[in-house]
Amino acid sequence: MAFPQTRMRRLRRSDSMRALVRETTLEPGDLIHPIFICPGQGVRKPIGSMPGVFNLSVDEAVRDAEEAASLGIGGLLLFGLPESKDEQGSGAWDENGIVQQGLRALKQSAAAKNLVLIADVCLCEYTSHGHCGILDETSDGWTVKNDPTLDLLARTAASLALAGADIVAPSDMMDGRVAAIRTALDAAHSEDTPILSYASKFASAFYGPFREAADSAPQFGDRRSYQMDGGNLREAMREIDLDLEEGADMILMKPAMPYLDVIRAARQRVDVPIGAYQVSGEYSMLQAAFEKGWLDRDRATLESLLGIRRAGADFIVTYFAKDAARLLA
Ligand SMILES: [Zn+2]
Repeated sequence: MAFPQTRMRRLRRSDSMRALVRETTLEPGDLIHPIFICPGQGVRKPIGSMPGVFNLSVDEAVRDAEEAASLGIGGLLLFGLPESKDEQGSGAWDENGIVQQGLRALKQSAAAKNLVLIADVCLCEYTSHGHCGILDETSDGWTVKNDPTLDLLARTAASLALAGADIVAPSDMMDGRVAAIRTALDAAHSEDTPILSYASKFASAFYGPFREAADSAPQFGDRRSYQMDGGNLREAMREIDLDLEEGADMILMKPAMPYLDVIRAARQRVDVPIGAYQVSGEYSMLQAAFEKGWLDRDRATLESLLGIRRAGADFIVTYFAKDAARLLA
């Protein structure tokens, strides 16, 4: 039936009417708050390219997590800035590594321990060269070696689970890492620890500000031989299928806004929980527009997140987690 029998505006007449028919909602519990843990005490170092984001020492990270918990946020995604780096990235699986220390401290906090603690699993924050795996230098350049990297990622995941991670989240994009991590977790009696795989992670300019936050910029070259090409949706579906076959319990899509169609396609293809990462560049460009007064901060923040949920993500990793949770309270 068309106009005048049908009038779409009937259901838009009031706040309560609009709330009743809203198809997609956003809750603080859908949001994951990333934390960058650094050495020291009482450290709260601002990231220049990401206003409102900090490198936090373990004690400050616990305070930050307690605030996130009080806002009803779903969980934390933990990254580490180690004291020192080496060729292999041994700080990643060190029993006293920076994230391992952070996990133990968070689990001792009565206020924060019920947050879902997700530990990023990668080597790039820990390697001196800043790549996500072991380097092989040959006469015609260098490559990141896939298979030897798997052992190190598996050790890292087992170590993080032992330290208290509720979920491990491999972000390296090596082939076969999910199966290698599953085997290592099971062998370490962490058979109940789920794997959230960054199944489809595109090589993206939008990661720029993160590299300052995590001090993980490659010292040379780029990551296009392991992260995905921005033109490829079908390849993303193959990556997801393979990670699920290898034992991933959930998948994470990254970045979000420039790849909403990929999130939608994943949602239609698989039934496992899907997370999306609203990455640093998405956050920083909105912050820049807010500073200039070009966009309404509160409305644009929530709209950017709602769009990602509508595309099909169950949960969102976002640097806006605390701001958005306050707006939704
Ligand atoms: Zn990495």
